[in-house]
Parts: sequence; C-alpha cells; structure tokens
Amino acid sequence: MRIIFLFIDGVGLREAASDNPVNPEVCPTLCRLITSHSKPIDACLGVEGLPQSATGQATMFTGVNCARAMGKHCEGFPGPSLRRIIEENNLFLQLKKRGKRVKFADAYLVESAEELIPRRYKSVTTVMALTTPEVVMTADDLAEDRALMQDLTRETIQDRYPDIRVIPPQRAAEHLFAIARENDFTLYEFFQTDVSGHSMDYARACAVLRTYDRFLSALVRFTEAAGLTLVMTADHGNIEAMDDRSHTRNPVPFIAFGPREKELRDSVSSLEDVTPAVLAAFDGF
Ligand SMILES: [Zn+2]
Repeated sequence: MRIIFLFIDGVGLREAASDNPVNPEVCPTLCRLITSHSKPIDACLGVEGLPQSATGQATMFTGVNCARAMGKHCEGFPGPSLRRIIEENNLFLQLKKRGKRVKFADAYLVESAEELIPRRYKSVTTVMALTTPEVVMTADDLAEDRALMQDLTRETIQDRYPDIRVIPPQRAAEHLFAIARENDFTLYEFFQTDVSGHSMDYARACAVLRTYDRFLSALVRFTEAAGLTLVMTADHGNIEAMDDRSHTRNPVPFIAFGPREKELRDSVSSLEDVTPAVLAAFDGF
C-alpha cells in the first residue's frame, strides 16, 4: 500500500456557476475525479462561523476535531494550544509508529529542518513535519528534483533563486511520483488555490487550477499504472465561489483513486475522519 496525499487548500464543492472556476473546461481531471472518485465531506466541524485553515488542517492531520477543541475556527498559523494537539499526535507520527516511510514533498528553502524550529509562524504541516524531522525536504532536495515547490512550477521563487529552473507542472508530477515510489506515504500541499480564491480574480483562479490540473492529469496516469492510491482533500471551500473573498461553508471533496479507494471513501464524512481513514487503509481496514 502506497499513498500520495494531495492536500489542496481552499477548494469546496458547489453547483456550476459563472463565478465557479472548478469546472471541466478549466480543470477536467480534477472534475473527473470529483465526479467519479470522490465523496463530499464536511469541513464546518459542527462549529459556527467560516471554516479556517489552522483548525481545518489540524483536524485533517490529527483526527481530532480541532475547531471544537478550540471552540472556534482558527485562521492561518496555529497558536500554542493548537500546536500542542498537532505535536502530540498527527498522521506523520502515527505512520512512523507503524514503521512506514513518510515524506513531506514540499521543499523548505532552508539547509536543514532545525532552521524551521525558531520560526514564529509555522503552518500546521510544518508543526507536524517537525515532529518527524526526517520527512522535511530542503533547498538542496529541490535543486536535485527530490522535492517540489509549493507552487509546482517554481515561478514564485525565481527572484530569490534564479538558479532553480522553472519546470512545467507535468515535470513536478514526475518528481512527486519518484518520491512516492520510495515511500509509503507522501504528502504534497498546494495552497495557491486558497490564495487565488481570496484575490477574487477569476482569471487568476483559473490559471492556478489549470496549472494544478496539468500536474494532476500526469500524476493520475503514473499512479494508476503503478497501483498507488491517490488521496486528495481540502481544508475548506473558497475558490469555488469567486464572488466572495472569504472561505465558504461548502463541503469539500474527499477523493480516493486506486487500491482501497472505496473503503477510504466509505470511512469519511468530515475532516475529522481523514487521518483515521488513511491509517485504516495502511492497517487493511
Ligand atoms: Zn484562506
């Protein structure tokens, strides 16, 4: 059993509308996976207000309803109490306990994981990765194509790292697949969808989704041929309603494609179920 987990930020499910860029013309592969291999799951977690990244992602990667634990949806970077929940128990730690090889495919532009520790603002995935520092990929890994950039193509770092060449999204899929073949569980986080959702710029959102779809289309071909399982979900909605700057309370897609896809989908109904479902897939359900 090998899993590639694609965490995509800010992509919810909504009926077709003129301000919804998640449509087959813009992102045909994503829409096909949503239509035939996904289940809508709840991201509101029984808590009032708009779902937010810190609690949504912490819930996704711990199996603890962090919005309920915090009494509200928390934005951006997790504070001390939320960090404690993530550090105590998370998907990487659980997989490591089971003897699984795990990688976080997004490169950090540092020389080693220790450089991340003193950072004041750490994302949920960074807090999680630091509990199992061997999963962290660095600037050297990126330069050697052993890691991916969070934007897939590396365009956003050209001003600072002109020596790291821009690549097409299909090439990023090749890199991710190569990482995934060496590991039991590989996570790749993409948040440009959420960033463009907040911009209210429809053309920009379409461009981001098109880039992601080219990556996804290549990746699906590789994983299908190799018998890997692709799991993909989002922390909350946003980009599917471009007439509004904020997140949405729409359900998010939980996509599973490949071995044990049906059991995976059958095990989830909210973000709280994602980590237990992935662990169950490794345990054979
Ligand atoms: Zn956001």
